[in-house]
Amino acid sequence: MKPLAPGLGYVDLQFLGFPHVIATAVLSHAGGVALVDPGPSSTWPTLKKTLADAGLGIGDVRTILLTHIHLDHAGATGTIVGENPAIEVCVHERGAPHMIAPEKLLASATRLYGADMDRLWGRFDPVPSRNIRVLSGGEQLDVAGRRLEVAYTPGHASHHVSYLDRDTRLAFVGDTGGIRRPDGYIIPPTPPPDIDLEVWRDSIARLRAWKPADVFVTHFGPWREPDAHFDALLTALAHVGDVVRASLEEPGSDEAHARAFQEQMERELVRAVPDANRPSYEAAGRFDLSWAGLARYWRKKP
Ligand SMILES: [Zn+2]
Repeated sequence: MKPLAPGLGYVDLQFLGFPHVIATAVLSHAGGVALVDPGPSSTWPTLKKTLADAGLGIGDVRTILLTHIHLDHAGATGTIVGENPAIEVCVHERGAPHMIAPEKLLASATRLYGADMDRLWGRFDPVPSRNIRVLSGGEQLDVAGRRLEVAYTPGHASHHVSYLDRDTRLAFVGDTGGIRRPDGYIIPPTPPPDIDLEVWRDSIARLRAWKPADVFVTHFGPWREPDAHFDALLTALAHVGDVVRASLEEPGSDEAHARAFQEQMERELVRAVPDANRPSYEAAGRFDLSWAGLARYWRKKP
């Protein structure tokens, strides 16, 4: 576990064996432990072992805070609750029904990932409704000895929330904060079906209004200077949005456009990050899916 502040740390889930792909934040206190986005069940053994090495057992976990329900963030939740039925799971009201009855969520993910579902994410167990605490944004939560504020931050997902720790002013911003690995390069994750660039920009403004000292992104880790981070994210969002919108005005099939977008993003990645870091981007980021999410957004827009 890597330390962030007293009682606050994070775990690299080593997704598919790669570093810096998925991070789970851990809030610990004598009164119990909270996990922010426990990740998929394929990496639950890694998370569980890392917690155990830090002296934390499954019985110490009281709360799971979900930023959103995508499998790379929330897939292990039902499995963990199965091991400790006393855990409370905090999730936005639009995401909660899919944690209780995940069939639609899994069908939607299967359309994106096909035969790769199990290798990537592992099983997804439903969460009993009695374990769910529904959020809508604006709440104050007392967890793991801390006071957290909740904000509704859609754009990447229509049910995305973020959490601010009042003491440290660290903001857990999930995927609304983009993908940014230790090399500093920012990519916005834009898979179907919920991408909405306008509401995403509004969410970034809402996060900035918190005046966080640091932001913590799931992919991957803590960043100082939130203003510079959000400026770079807005630039990257505008860039990918423009590239996809322009592609829709060109002749050619969706498959060809998605492939061309993927090739352009890979060329930009080659220029921006050291070779050794590229597999971590490619392990989680499917650029063809990012094209599809933005294409869906532009086609729906009146
Ligand atoms: Zn994600």
